[in-house]
Formats: sequence, structure tokens, C-alpha cells
Amino acid sequence: MDREISRLIKKETKRQNEGIELIASENYASKDVRDACASILTNKYAEGYPGKRYYGGCEYIDKIETLAQERCKKLFGCKYANVQPHSGSQANAAAYKALLPDGGKILSLVLNDGGHLTHGSPVSFSSHLYNFVFYPLTNGYLNYTDILEVAQKEKPDVILAGYSAYPYEIDFELLGKIAKKVKARFMVDMAHIAGLIAAGCHMSPFPYADIVTSTTHKTLRGPRGGIILTNDEELYKKINSAVFPYYQGGPLEHIIAAKAICFKEANTKEFKLYIKHVIRNTRACQEELVKLGAKTTGTDTHLFLLNTLDSFGLTGLDAQKKLEEIGITANKNMIPGDTLKPNKTSGLRIGLAAVTTRGCTLEEAKSIAQIIYGYLSGNMTTVAAKNGVKSITKFWKKIEKIS
Ligand code: PLP
Repeated sequence: MDREISRLIKKETKRQNEGIELIASENYASKDVRDACASILTNKYAEGYPGKRYYGGCEYIDKIETLAQERCKKLFGCKYANVQPHSGSQANAAAYKALLPDGGKILSLVLNDGGHLTHGSPVSFSSHLYNFVFYPLTNGYLNYTDILEVAQKEKPDVILAGYSAYPYEIDFELLGKIAKKVKARFMVDMAHIAGLIAAGCHMSPFPYADIVTSTTHKTLRGPRGGIILTNDEELYKKINSAVFPYYQGGPLEHIIAAKAICFKEANTKEFKLYIKHVIRNTRACQEELVKLGAKTTGTDTHLFLLNTLDSFGLTGLDAQKKLEEIGITANKNMIPGDTLKPNKTSGLRIGLAAVTTRGCTLEEAKSIAQIIYGYLSGNMTTVAAKNGVKSITKFWKKIEKIS
């Protein structure tokens, strides 16, 4: 392989193996998933959908994409699946296109409170094409009474749920009822919690949502990409034309093959057990931090927020940089009600999905909390913290070996 790229991949492999990865949106895909991503399927153009392509030679590609669709539908218990979106952001763009006209109104959670860029941020296409209004959180929690009140006042076309930094379970049934009450469509972006939903450890958005979007690379542990699901045939037709030809060209069939593998892997007892461990480890890490004196949100999921400003007098940015010095990767994140800007923030988002894939135990999840607390509070030296990280990761599966 190209020498320069090969050298950099080796360095990144070492970083991933030796570090503790706490970015809540990351995970380690299996070797089978990675092999499909690197396969010769990348050579093939296949604009269109199975049986209706704009190119010849799609006999096997059609079978692969159909298999991905079937496995995806089975995993999430829905009737229709588009597995072509190149990313979660493109899935959301196509879902909006299918659900409402340009300029239509979407009621969502603002980025600062845990929503995603594509949920109406001024720096995203979403706020330029649609009129976004937002529901507030109460003490960091969704407040369904408030959401109903805002929905009745705003009369949106779409109510959007599913977030990037919300640590608690979401009541999709209740939100679906609110949407019905105000005659809005209900969309769920389950990107973060797709793995939890697949494993039956979080309420499913079906049968309450009109459209569900997701990424496949977070808790679902697949390749980097997106999907769009629905039970509504008319919406499915609109979703298909919104993905291709409106927003995308040729589908990434190597990634679609990897998605098919990921859907099969996620439909196993082992995956359910994995997600249970993720939730247990996340809670153990969060509770240990609180026990040591830190301020955090609670958690029902794979993530929680650590208030670094109140706990250690550090901005999220400074805490992120400090942890990186010792081989722990986490990302700065706004805390609900944050007074600091998004490029500084008052906290960190911490997720245990990736480390659990490598075999992190409950005791190790607590040790991670002790290193974070010790180092950020200044009570642990850099050498001691680095040794702590090393002594944990040396027992974990090498990322190349994850099957
Ligand atoms: N939706 C949510 C809730 C997310 O958290 C993310 C990514 O972090 C996305 C959508 C976008 O995914 P992608 O980065 O694949 O565009």
C-alpha cells in the first residue's frame, strides 16, 4: 500500500489500541464489517434501487442491497428500509424532504441541549431549508407536558426526537401521541441509540414514528453510514426519491454490504449481552465519578455528561485536551443550560460503547472514572494516569482482532 498512508494507518491503529476511547458516537466495527468496506464492491456503480438500476452488471449488487434491506427491517421490526444514505446527516436531509415542503416547520431539541447539527443548527443546511423551533429541557430532562404545550402553540409539520447527547430513555409512545394531537408527523433520529433499540434495551420508535433515521456506526457497531426506515408505503416512495436522485448519486455498495453484516451481527444474543454491558459499564463509570465528588447527569443509556467546570474548574475543551495527554479520548459538550460557547463548553460527553466492545469490565469502567477524576482534579500525576490507562488497555482485545 501507499507508504505514507500505510504509516499513518499504523499510527492510528496504535492510537486506537493503546488509548481509552470514550467518544459516545464511536465504536469498533468487526473484521467482517471492515473487510466488506474494503471489498471490490467499491468498484461498482449502481444508481437506483434493486431491480431498477441505471447501470448494467448489478445482479449481485441487487442481492446484496436486498439482503441489507431485509436484515434491517427484521432487526428494527418495520416494513420498509432505505439503506443507501452515505451518512446520518444525509439520511436526515432525505427524511425531511420526504416529510415536509421546503420552509415547513420542525419542532426539535436545540444542539446546545443535546440535539444534532442537522436538527436546526444555524451552521447546518437544515435551518436554511426549514423553519426550526425548539422544545426546552427541564433540569436536563425531556418534559412531555412542555413539549405538548410548545407543539400546540407552534403547530409544526414535524416533531423530531432522538439526540446526540441525551443520556436518558426517550418515551417515543408519548411523543407519538403528542404529534398525533397536533396533527404533526413524528420523526425519530435514533443514531445514538440504534444499538440499544436493536437489543431491546430501549423503547422502539416503531410503531409510533412515521420515519426513523439512524447512523450505523455508533452503538449499532457497523460501518460509517445511514439508514431510513418507515412503515408507510407512500413515505417510502418519497424517501427513495429523496435519497436518489435528489440528494445522492451512486450508492456505496461496499458499505451497504457491511451494513448487511452489521444488521446480522446486531440480531444475535451476543449483541444483546454486549449492549447490556454497555449500559452497566456506563452507569458504573458515571456513579463512580459522582462518588468521587464529580457533577454528572444520570444515565439510562450508553452515555452521560460530566460537568467539568463545576467539578474541576475546567472548560470542556481544557478537560478534553488534558485527557488526551494521557490517552483518553472524549469530546467537549455543552451541558444543558451551558453559558459557555460550543467551542469551549462546560463539560464532556462520555460514552462506554467502544471500550465495552474491547472487553471493558465493570471494575475497569470504575477505574476509568478514577483516572479521569484523579487527573482532572490534579490529584494524579501524568505518569500515574498514563500507567493507569496502559494497565487497562493491555488486557483488552486488539482492535484488529475484534470479530
Ligand atoms: N443524528 C444524530 C443524533 C447524531 O448524533 C449524528 C452524528 O453524530 C448524526 C445524526 C449525523 O451522522 P453523520 O455524522 O453520519 O452525518
